[in-house]
Amino acid sequence: MAVPKKKVSRSRRDKRRSHHSLKSANLVECDNCGELKLPHHICPACGYYSGREVVEPEDGV
Ligand SMILES: [Zn+2]
Repeated sequence: MAVPKKKVSRSRRDKRRSHHSLKSANLVECDNCGELKLPHHICPACGYYSGREVVEPEDGV
Protein backbone atom coordinates (compact mmCIF):
# COMPACT_ATOMS: atom_id res chain seq x y z
CA MET A 1 0.00 0.00 0.00
CA ALA A 2 1.26 3.46 -0.86
CA VAL A 3 2.04 5.46 2.26
CA PRO A 4 2.70 9.22 2.44
CA LYS A 5 6.36 9.87 3.09
CA LYS A 6 5.93 13.13 4.98
CA LYS A 7 3.27 14.72 7.15
CA VAL A 8 1.09 17.07 5.12
CA SER A 9 1.38 20.58 6.55
CA ARG A 10 -1.67 22.48 7.75
CA SER A 11 -1.17 24.90 4.88
CA ARG A 12 -1.06 22.18 2.23
CA ARG A 13 -3.93 20.24 3.80
CA ASP A 14 -6.13 23.35 4.00
CA LYS A 15 -5.26 24.38 0.44
CA ARG A 16 -6.39 20.94 -0.75
CA ARG A 17 -9.69 21.38 1.12
CA SER A 18 -10.32 24.84 -0.35
CA HIS A 19 -12.23 23.14 -3.18
CA HIS A 20 -14.41 20.98 -0.92
CA SER A 21 -17.26 23.39 -0.19
CA LEU A 22 -20.69 22.52 -1.60
CA LYS A 23 -22.51 24.89 -3.88
CA SER A 24 -26.21 25.45 -3.36
CA ALA A 25 -28.54 23.75 -5.85
CA ASN A 26 -29.77 25.87 -8.73
CA LEU A 27 -33.52 26.11 -8.10
CA VAL A 28 -36.12 27.56 -10.45
CA GLU A 29 -39.82 28.23 -9.91
CA CYS A 30 -42.34 25.77 -11.35
CA ASP A 31 -44.38 27.29 -14.19
CA ASN A 32 -47.52 25.60 -12.86
CA CYS A 33 -47.50 25.95 -9.08
CA GLY A 34 -44.56 28.30 -8.40
CA GLU A 35 -42.85 25.78 -6.13
CA LEU A 36 -39.05 25.69 -6.27
CA LYS A 37 -37.73 22.79 -8.33
CA LEU A 38 -34.61 21.65 -10.13
CA PRO A 39 -34.33 22.79 -13.76
CA HIS A 40 -35.11 20.09 -16.39
CA HIS A 41 -36.91 18.03 -13.74
CA ILE A 42 -40.57 17.20 -13.13
CA CYS A 43 -41.99 19.42 -10.38
CA PRO A 44 -42.15 17.28 -7.21
CA ALA A 45 -45.08 19.33 -5.89
CA CYS A 46 -47.54 19.17 -8.81
CA GLY A 47 -45.93 16.68 -11.21
CA TYR A 48 -45.97 19.03 -14.18
CA TYR A 49 -43.29 19.37 -16.81
CA SER A 50 -42.93 21.34 -20.05
CA GLY A 51 -46.04 23.49 -19.77
CA ARG A 52 -49.32 21.72 -19.09
CA GLU A 53 -48.66 18.00 -19.11
CA VAL A 54 -49.11 16.11 -15.85
CA VAL A 55 -46.72 13.21 -15.60
CA GLU A 56 -47.08 11.99 -12.06
CA PRO A 57 -49.17 13.80 -9.46
CA GLU A 58 -47.17 13.39 -6.26
CA ASP A 59 -48.80 13.32 -2.84
CA GLY A 60 -47.41 12.43 0.55
CA VAL A 61 -47.66 8.69 1.17
ZN1 LIG B 1 -45.28 22.55 -9.78
